[in-house]
Amino acid sequence: MINNSKLKLIEQSLTDDDIDWNFTHEWINSNPLGTPCSAKLSKIQGNKMKKCNFTHPTNDIQQRNYLRLYPRVIIPCVKCNAVKDNNEHIGLCTAHTTTIQQIISNASDTLYELLMNDDAERNLTLKITINNSKIFNTNLDPFLLKSHPFYLLIQRPH
Ligand SMILES: [Zn+2]
Repeated sequence: MINNSKLKLIEQSLTDDDIDWNFTHEWINSNPLGTPCSAKLSKIQGNKMKKCNFTHPTNDIQQRNYLRLYPRVIIPCVKCNAVKDNNEHIGLCTAHTTTIQQIISNASDTLYELLMNDDAERNLTLKITINNSKIFNTNLDPFLLKSHPFYLLIQRPH
């Protein structure tokens, strides 16, 4: 995995052994539809592969895959129009900061809900612990640093 050039974005997390491969394996193999195959399941699985390999269809990927449709010039990010649009820029673009912060916050809430069952009394200490953990840090000043574990979080199922 360390030599996979598509995973350069999370190289530090790979070398630090921050990734739980058992959960990653379970996530990749999970089937939310309950049917062994369908067009919708194929779309879900394809989306997971794009998330795992950081191959979301950003402009550089579209350009590579559809040579005749896209001009052979650097296509900037449609949000900031300042730099080349690619998967790495998703976290670096300050135009995405509010959205990323919302995704992190939602993931924090989801984790909290999963840890608490409906009968349990809400535990403020647990909520504070989750909010103070590195993965749910919403301080993106000036942008999402490559070392932020959010890059791993975008692999979460939807
Ligand atoms: Zn941008």
